[in-house]
Amino acid sequence: MLARTRSRRTDRAATDLLELSSMSDDDGTPVRLRDALDAVPAYVPGRPLATPTGMRAYKLSSNENPYPPLPSVLKVIRDAAGSVNRYPDMAVTALTDRLAEALAVDPSCIATGTGSVGVLGQVIQAACDPEDEVVFAWRSFEAYPIVTALAGARAVMVPVDEQGRHRLGAMADAVTDRTKVVLVCSPNNPTGPAVGQGELDAFLARVPERVLVVVDEAYLEFVTSPDRLDALALWHKYPNVVVLRTFSKAYGLAGLRVGYAVAHPVVATALRKTAVPFGVNTIAQAAAVASLDAEDELVVRVKDIVAERDRVAAALRAQGWQIPTADGNFVWLPVGERSADLVAAFEAAGLAVRAYGTDGVRVTIGEHKANDLLIEVAGRWHAAG
Ligand SMILES: *Cc1c(COP(=O)(O)O)cnc(C)c1O
Repeated sequence: MLARTRSRRTDRAATDLLELSSMSDDDGTPVRLRDALDAVPAYVPGRPLATPTGMRAYKLSSNENPYPPLPSVLKVIRDAAGSVNRYPDMAVTALTDRLAEALAVDPSCIATGTGSVGVLGQVIQAACDPEDEVVFAWRSFEAYPIVTALAGARAVMVPVDEQGRHRLGAMADAVTDRTKVVLVCSPNNPTGPAVGQGELDAFLARVPERVLVVVDEAYLEFVTSPDRLDALALWHKYPNVVVLRTFSKAYGLAGLRVGYAVAHPVVATALRKTAVPFGVNTIAQAAAVASLDAEDELVVRVKDIVAERDRVAAALRAQGWQIPTADGNFVWLPVGERSADLVAAFEAAGLAVRAYGTDGVRVTIGEHKANDLLIEVAGRWHAAG
């Protein structure tokens, strides 16, 4: 989502540049920008959904929660809107204290930001000088190469295995003297599998303590496997771990931009220094606290999404699809060169989904009707060979 905003901004910048260049010479402007920006990957947005008339369209392309905010959360959002003439609480006190209590950690270990992507940017900015290395799996979250390149750091991408799993042994081997950060995405977006507790423990035992290991748990709440990762427990054991979490997915607050890290107090202080001042706004702070208060209601929704995910995955496998373990709120269809073709089939049925180059297609678990359609289209497409 961050990437999409950025690309629109880039488009606008490109247009401005064109207008400028018609007035001046070759490059268009004598202004000097950082060379590092040339290495920032361009975001390729999904095609707009061309819905056949009279057909309901569903957005299954951004791993959003299909449920609207709970009434109790919506009320808090409305009330908080009345004070937006004031700056937010810069220290994010109420939310930080509430999280500290819920996670049984000291408030000094918590740093918030504008979504966990915002917090991730703070981590990279705090840790990386130009030419430093950031190790992560690939394919993984699209924001990783962007935040790395923005810092002028080098992305060291370690391919996932055939099941879409992190190869943590190979990632540990990829750590050098220049490595400042390793990113572990569990469950991995877009391929689906979560990392197991035992394998992450073994990995952390191998990584030097000076290297930050960020465990991105954006989809934590959807994991039901028996070896479910407890990154917080590992953080107590390895102080170089940074646990990254968000209110965007299970909590359904993607539009409000609020996420947080649990980290060593020294790291958390650095994350506060690199944060956008007043970045987490008053409405987001209040809504996040209200969501934590409404956890019992939200858990019911998460359970429903998990049940739907398992229903979809089982149906796809019964159709003959070979798909990796789906531990998040999405399924991964590794169709390679035929990705664009599959996207077109989904779009014709009113489903917006996301292609990742010629690797595959990711489909978010959405409304029950949307999931029914997903199964139907995937079945037809697979049967047509
Ligand atoms: C969606 C997602 C996030 C969350 O981003 P926010 O900025 O918190 O909305 C973080 N990491 C991964 C892997 C994601 O897929």
